[in-house]
Amino acid sequence: MALPEALAGVVVSDRCCGCGACAGVAACGRLEMRLTPEGLWQPAVSECTNCGVCERVCPGLESPAPETAAPLGEHLGACVGYSTDERERLRGSSGGLATRVLKALLESGQVEAVVAVRASEDGERLFEAAVLRTSEEIQAAAGSKYYPVEFSRPLQELRASGERFALVGVPCVITALHHGRERLPWLQRQCVALIGLACGHLVSTHYTAFLAELSGVRAEGLSGAEYRRKPGLRSAVDYVFAARVADGAEGRELPFVTGRAPVTLWTARIFTPGACFRCADLFAADADLTLMDAWLPEYTADRAGTSLAVARSEAMRDLLEAERAAGRLHLEPIAPEHVVRSQAGALASRRVAAELRSTGAREPLSLRWERRRARLSNRLLAGRGPRRRLGIAAIRAWMAAHRAWNSIWRLPRRVAGRLKRLVLGPGKVRT
Ligand SMILES: Cc1cc2nc3c(=O)[nH]c(=O)nc-3n(C[C@H](O)[C@H](O)[C@H](O)COP(=O)(O)OP(=O)(O)OC[C@H]3O[C@@H](n4cnc5c(N)ncnc54)[C@H](O)[C@@H]3O)c2cc1C
Repeated sequence: MALPEALAGVVVSDRCCGCGACAGVAACGRLEMRLTPEGLWQPAVSECTNCGVCERVCPGLESPAPETAAPLGEHLGACVGYSTDERERLRGSSGGLATRVLKALLESGQVEAVVAVRASEDGERLFEAAVLRTSEEIQAAAGSKYYPVEFSRPLQELRASGERFALVGVPCVITALHHGRERLPWLQRQCVALIGLACGHLVSTHYTAFLAELSGVRAEGLSGAEYRRKPGLRSAVDYVFAARVADGAEGRELPFVTGRAPVTLWTARIFTPGACFRCADLFAADADLTLMDAWLPEYTADRAGTSLAVARSEAMRDLLEAERAAGRLHLEPIAPEHVVRSQAGALASRRVAAELRSTGAREPLSLRWERRRARLSNRLLAGRGPRRRLGIAAIRAWMAAHRAWNSIWRLPRRVAGRLKRLVLGPGKVRT
């Protein structure tokens, strides 16, 4: 039997983000998540009993479209800072705040388990959402994984165990769990804290496979990846991607800097799932606490990394304050408008999505083209052999053209800058 009608509609219309919440809560127990050749998770069912529970959490059916005037959503305050534990901060993507908060929740006994994303050893995927029960496990799961992750298995496990838990996830996952907490008694009882990560967009598994190939690691031999390695770098925006094979050998490190593959593919949304093009929720408005990078010039100079935190529940505000008072977090208040300013790039596309959602207008041609290009890229890389090779060659050719176009486009600005320097002398020109 096929998926329940509403869920099937979400999948067919490309609004499924692959979070797996549906399969995690379904009463039938027959709904499962499958990794498609396009490198994205999708629900599938062997025999649907029409229990309707899966539809009560799906973020593709209804998700928040925050007012464009208040993109941060409801909150009690914002702060900027980092973990004072060097290991947490340096292994963390930004300031290690997520890792510290998850550990604090566990160590204080507020939760018995945490759902975070760790390296997987099942051979099918590189990363998985898993139930973690020790601080060491939480520490090992630090760092952002730009890789599709589904949450069905940990949710099923926690429902069976009855443990109280905290979950860290991107906005669509948080919305699904937020719905679950409002509508399903077991989640209301057990899901104590939702820690949201601000999210520009997701990517398919092919993003990682493609970068691995560029770094000299064949996709078939890929056994692990690190997206934000940072020791020894000049600033917080200066991090690298590294791919690993089974014996631990690594490919060439690829810097995450403008004009290089990791950033070019990311900002052009080449491997992005369709659902992200319609998502208006950058700041995980349904979370109890939202964390993100402090992408502001006053903080990026500190290469160890700094996070921004937006507290939306009293419990989370108190937890941050307690960790600060105990000296485990360095935190200072920050005005919400600076938090919004830190995400100017990603916010632009979210505003377009929010506008389209509220007016019901048709996607502009440029957006439709971008979404189709993303789908085509995932399809081309889905196959093996010649089709895949053709896909890789086509994307490489596109990147080369993109680089060339950007250098031509920036040329007048560079020439103008040089002329100004010549006329006014050094130091008078803002770079
Ligand atoms: C796909 C994606 C897109 C993002 N986009 C933005 C953005 O546009 N702007 C911005 O400021 N920040 C973005 N972030 C968040 C940012 O990368 C950091 O995660 C955030 O700043 C927290 O850093 P930290 O040092 O406090 O976290 P850490 O201490 O490094 O902990 C990160 C936690 O997140 C968990 N995690 C890692 N990957 C995932 C995942 N895919 N899904 C769910 N949980 C995960 C880890 O297991 C860990 O527990 C994004 C994160 C992801 C995963």
